Amino acid sequence: MVFQPQLKILISRDEIAKAVDRLAREIKKDYKGKQPLLIGVLKGSFVFMADLIRHLNLPLELEFVRLSSYGAARDSSGKVRIVQGVKTPTKGRDILVIEDIVDTGITVSFLLDYLRKKKPASLKLCALTDKPSRRRVLVPIDYLGFTVPNKFIVGYGLDFDERFRNLPDIYALED
Ligand code: 5GP
Ligand code: MG
Repeated sequence: MVFQPQLKILISRDEIAKAVDRLAREIKKDYKGKQPLLIGVLKGSFVFMADLIRHLNLPLELEFVRLSSYGAARDSSGKVRIVQGVKTPTKGRDILVIEDIVDTGITVSFLLDYLRKKKPASLKLCALTDKPSRRRVLVPIDYLGFTVPNKFIVGYGLDFDERFRNLPDIYALED
């Protein structure tokens, strides 16, 4: 039998669309005259990134990275590993990392450290959601969609056991 957890709507597709529009306006203003390299963190950010870039009238380029963590990334012991790194040269580039959620902060701070070593001209972070209640590592988020409560969220790219990425709204899993 397929597991059917209870889902409660947290952020509607309309609210998401407004946030994407707002973020795109901020990003366009800040990157005017530049050719940013947007780096999406697979798989969770792909829906957000697809919507965001279509609002960005900039000569941007795209890259994707895939990270994995030994054990759970949500453990203090969570060690992050790069499964698929960046192939585009990043030295001197204006890099904007696109994430679905910053939870403990362990994953994205590892990625930012990895990218910083590649000597970009600038390095910023755009996150759709932020769950500050669980933060363990300080992560400055330059562009943020929503702050979310301490619940597990799914939809709009975010999964639970690889399901629910296709939902157009964001839901909280009921415990
Ligand atoms: P971190 O704890 O390192 O900040 O987050 C690691 C990863 O855990 C995130 O990029 C995301 O893929 C996943 N994650 C953390 N919180 C949630 C959540 O509420 N829902 C989903 N679907 N994934 C989450
Ligand atoms: Mg992620």
